[in-house]
Amino acid sequence: MADPLVVIYGSTGTGKSDLAVELAARFNGEIINADAMQMYRGLPIITNQLNPEEQRGIPHYLLGNIGLDEEPWSVTSWKREATKIISGIRSRGKLPIVVGGTSYYLDGLLFDEKLVESDPAMTEESEAAAKITREELASQHPILRESAEVMLAKLQEVDPVMAERWHPKDIRKIRNSLEIYLTTGRRASDIYAEQRARKEAKRAGQPPSPWNLLLFWLYAKPDVLNARLDKRVDKMVTNGLVNETSSVYDYLQGRLAAGETVDRTKGIWQSIGFRQFESYLSAVKSTETETPQAVLEKLKQQGIEDTKTATRQYAKYQVRWVARKTIAALQEENLLSKFYLLDSSNISQWHSEVAEKGSFLLAKHLADRPLPRPEELSETAREVLANQLERSNRPETICNKTCEVCEKEFRIEEQWQKHLKSKKHQKATRWAKRQAEGWPTRGEGKRDKAEGTDDDAAADADADDDGLVPKP
Ligand SMILES: [Zn+2]
Repeated sequence: MADPLVVIYGSTGTGKSDLAVELAARFNGEIINADAMQMYRGLPIITNQLNPEEQRGIPHYLLGNIGLDEEPWSVTSWKREATKIISGIRSRGKLPIVVGGTSYYLDGLLFDEKLVESDPAMTEESEAAAKITREELASQHPILRESAEVMLAKLQEVDPVMAERWHPKDIRKIRNSLEIYLTTGRRASDIYAEQRARKEAKRAGQPPSPWNLLLFWLYAKPDVLNARLDKRVDKMVTNGLVNETSSVYDYLQGRLAAGETVDRTKGIWQSIGFRQFESYLSAVKSTETETPQAVLEKLKQQGIEDTKTATRQYAKYQVRWVARKTIAALQEENLLSKFYLLDSSNISQWHSEVAEKGSFLLAKHLADRPLPRPEELSETAREVLANQLERSNRPETICNKTCEVCEKEFRIEEQWQKHLKSKKHQKATRWAKRQAEGWPTRGEGKRDKAEGTDDDAAADADADDDGLVPKP
């Protein structure tokens, strides 16, 4: 039998590092860190490292092992090193446990790298760029302006399989299928069948995983998690977050003063808890101007608030990554039956819900005994996993839509619908309406705002209901 390997996914604040230690203590394990920021040395507070007492003497690898001047490791470097360490741990007869919030490291370890590094957004963009607009299409093929009945008759002729699938009154779907035929010269039904066959072939041709895997996903309901993260930031501040940030700030200033160029879009400079306190620190440390105490206090409070916001957004991003990318990849690799969601929403039940359930599953796994189905583990597991599976199995509806306001084109109906609901689109629509009504516009800068800023991206994320939250 292949060597056992435990992998723990989870967002910040779910207690995944504690679970790793608990399992390592009970099952003679050693831990490999998969959190890019925790690889930095000397910043235990900012990066939320377990302190030595919490590590309980368990060996931890790839933790605090790089300097502030180094870039975070690529997935390739991390995977190479982690694989070596895993073999080393096994050769000593111990159980390797990989844990971390950098999901693309974990995905990189488990899956073919092509799967991990393909960026779906890029593909959409390049696809959209190559597409002609719906108007142009209809002028080339006037039948696309006809009634559902006329289009359906044509579809029956060219692609009877798709024609059979749609309700005779569902003009949108009939037109989509017909558009595919007219633009590609191929039947939509053939294209879908090919896509399915490609997936099957990929699955069949793949070497089996070198490891006997057991996977955990530590999950906490968003409202509970957000409140917990806010409290944790306050605790970090009490524990010396600002001192730590200040030392990073001094280090940065030292390098800049020495005339070095520092790429601040990468590495530790992007870590949450550093950027947010920069204005405060630069005011505190300024030798030229003396900032009044009240202003300094205000800047510090702003830093704390911004750190809380950024932490919540990061957690949300981490959850979405696992929910979308990891689950889809696990399904493709037939690994979903080994992917267990542990519910850490209720901290007072952490022991029974997380530590005990995790240990129970791992004991069975190591003894090669049958395991329960992941959705049987808890009500939350059932709801969240079922939602995500339904989502990733839903076939995409091909469309050909153009947003005239934003001058953007869409090939996937779900993305079009999401765009219509997005804050960016609604803002642009309001702006266009004001212009059309002849309202005075407040400078050209306004237009840039409508194109979308980071705030918009965050707001878009909020507007998108991804069914992760079990409805009350
Ligand atoms: Zn739009």
